[in-house]
Amino acid sequence: MPSFEEARDIILASVHPLGEEMVPLLEAVGRVVKRDVVAPWDLPQFDNSAMDGFAVRAANCSKVPAELSVTGFLPAGGDGPAALETGCAVRIMTGAPIPPGCNAVVPVEETEDMGDRVVIRHKVLPRQHIRHQGSDVAAGAPIMEAGTTVRPAEIGMLAAMGQALVPVHRKVRVAILSTGDELIELGEAPSPGRVINSNALSLAAAVREAGAEPVLLGIARDDIESHREKIHQGFRFDALITSAGVSAGDRDLVREVLAELGAQEQFWKIAMKPGGPTAFALMDGRPVFSLPGNPVSTMITFELLVKPALLKMMGYRKVVRPFVKGILAEDAHKKEGKTHFIRVTVKKRHGRYVAYCAGDQHTAILSTMTRCDALAALPSEATFVAAGSEVDLVLLRDVELVPETTS
Ligand code: AMP
Ligand code: MG
Repeated sequence: MPSFEEARDIILASVHPLGEEMVPLLEAVGRVVKRDVVAPWDLPQFDNSAMDGFAVRAANCSKVPAELSVTGFLPAGGDGPAALETGCAVRIMTGAPIPPGCNAVVPVEETEDMGDRVVIRHKVLPRQHIRHQGSDVAAGAPIMEAGTTVRPAEIGMLAAMGQALVPVHRKVRVAILSTGDELIELGEAPSPGRVINSNALSLAAAVREAGAEPVLLGIARDDIESHREKIHQGFRFDALITSAGVSAGDRDLVREVLAELGAQEQFWKIAMKPGGPTAFALMDGRPVFSLPGNPVSTMITFELLVKPALLKMMGYRKVVRPFVKGILAEDAHKKEGKTHFIRVTVKKRHGRYVAYCAGDQHTAILSTMTRCDALAALPSEATFVAAGSEVDLVLLRDVELVPETTS
């Protein structure tokens, strides 16, 4: 039986980045660029003024104070500038193109502005206060390497370079299938013995939060035929996630039907809790994650095992968030042989995370899951972790954000 880390490694070694799609610029935010993007032109595209002031030829101001006649006005966005006459200056605004013949801009603060004439008080150096063509990025230089995650900064660069479409890794389309005769869909009338199919929705939300695209397949009933039909549908997508029906009960049919349909199981059972009965298979090279059905097990195995795989498929190169260190506030007992992930609330005290048990740890208890900030990993070999011990945490909430102060 693989350890949690081994299981994750097997999964990550089995999945590969998907191909390319071109998406409109704004849709690229958060996505991963599939191939290098090269600057089609210089940035800036023309020499322009970095200041409001006067465009001059530095040699005309070699003796200061120098008095020059002002022969024109160049606002940003104005028409192309006329060439500068010798001994003259042009009033210029930030961003306006530098007129031919000028090689410096004198900020208005360093002049005496007399309307049609200007007095330059300080020495003027050639090139000063000019943003030169190509000084930011030269045409042909890479502006984004394959593997870059697009942030607003990259969006700005791509826009400035005229890129309305961006080559990114395709989103993973993830089929989500629930199994069980007891399940009803949200909106159907609850009755004794029935359970709302909440796993499909928590998984869909998690898939979407990971940046992938969930496709809800509904519920397979606890018979072979229903499983066959639904699982077969699931094979049309980039990945399939099933929940429940993967333990050793009579009605646990997921693995049997997967095998019958030709999926190749890579492992079943992991030395972790929750998540013990998780199975992982490949169908024509596509991953099939069979997660346990208890709602908390489903969520935790998604977070720890499925999410990194989906991220890898979408081209992300960093897909596993390292544990952060915290201090366990209370004693914890466990059985030896499995890594336990317990739900904890986290407070920051004296610069360190302190983890408190968030409540009943049974995997059917949703309220402990909604209350918790993190999972604390208790080592496989341990049977007891004493209060005050350092533990590894998987943060599930941004615990660094602080409430707004209203003083
Ligand atoms: P199973 O693995 O089929 O024995 O299911 C384990 C537990 O998870 C049972 O209590 C199920 O009712 C519950 N469960 C299974 N599927 C879902 C689901 N889609 N939504 C909510 N609870 C579920
Ligand atoms: Mg079941």
